[in-house]
Amino acid sequence: MAAGRLDALEQQALRRRLAATARSDDGVAARDGRVLTSFCCNDYLGLSQHPAVKQAAHQAIDAFGAGAGASRLVTGNHPLYEDLERRLAALKETEAALVFGSGYLANLAIPPALAGTGDLIVADELVHASMHAGIRASRAEVRFFPHNDADACGRVLADERASFRHCLIMTEGVFSMDGDCAPLAALSEIADARDAWLMTDDAHGLGVLGEGRGSAAAAGVSDRVPLQMGTLSKAVGSYGGYLCASRAVIDLMINRARSLIYATGLPPAAVAASSAALDLVANDRRLVAAPMEKASRFCAALGLPEPESPIVPLIVGAAERALDASAALAEQGFLVTAIRPPTVPDGTARLRFTFQATHKDEDVDRLAAAVRETGLAG
Ligand SMILES: *Cc1c(COP(=O)(O)O)cnc(C)c1O
Repeated sequence: MAAGRLDALEQQALRRRLAATARSDDGVAARDGRVLTSFCCNDYLGLSQHPAVKQAAHQAIDAFGAGAGASRLVTGNHPLYEDLERRLAALKETEAALVFGSGYLANLAIPPALAGTGDLIVADELVHASMHAGIRASRAEVRFFPHNDADACGRVLADERASFRHCLIMTEGVFSMDGDCAPLAALSEIADARDAWLMTDDAHGLGVLGEGRGSAAAAGVSDRVPLQMGTLSKAVGSYGGYLCASRAVIDLMINRARSLIYATGLPPAAVAASSAALDLVANDRRLVAAPMEKASRFCAALGLPEPESPIVPLIVGAAERALDASAALAEQGFLVTAIRPPTVPDGTARLRFTFQATHKDEDVDRLAAAVRETGLAG
């Protein structure tokens, strides 16, 4: 049965395989015996390899050990969490913050903790798989609106809000596979007018937009997005997820978020590394601005529209074409994995380029030349 299903995936060029990939501190990735310059990591600031971040992790291991030993509500709530949560709340300008085991685990638990039977969730159709998982787990009624169409979201609430008790609007600050930003000002107005919560997944905004504060700050609505979740695994370079919100919401999560209550706390090294990384995010403006500069350079070289984030997709359509284009770039020394359905809608397989502060301008220029050679752009 499993073999048959794998064959079916293979036929559609949708079978996925793990490839051992060793990343190192000079921005290259070793895969299949080749050394490639990666343009598909989410390590936007290169902080997973930063000396200060690595040193914080080392010290935490030496002082406190390799693992947390239990869930946060039992004995896994190391004092290091307090410092990290204070930094997150300060950066996001919220009352409080809560760190989860991962971004996926945060998204799995937040919707069910806030909404259930008799409540309404209204979400952008392109939200991340982890948000879909949380929506399904909540058992609330759900409506999806066309991507980034705030007017359509407004119409759903105008028509249906009155029939439900609580309402939660969900979107991504920066869309992970498209690189565009949500219309947060318009969505926050709708949420205010209709007595709904607005929740953003800022996995790709923290550390790169709004001087590092993320997408809500970039849109000038930091104080109007009451639920800002994200991950510590991308620009922050470590591991874990978070929610920044009011003290009351955070206290409710501690009592209701199942993936926090029933899962082991993070290794102390991951928590310490995140704090060290956030220190850099909060204080190094030039570092934080760099990924956008690299993305702009790439887009200008290929005549693509000015990017809204360091994520630049080139949609090629068929899954097979995306795999071929990825292989062609690997021949030129670049690692850019193909993104295929169901991660993206059918017929929109793509190459997804991500730009990092650590990329050299020459590498960006060589990449643009290689992309032009594939005929995909430029
Ligand atoms: C990566 C990602 C997540 C999951 O975060 P992890 O910490 O990797 O589990 C959630 N949402 C979006 C939009 C993401 O890109």
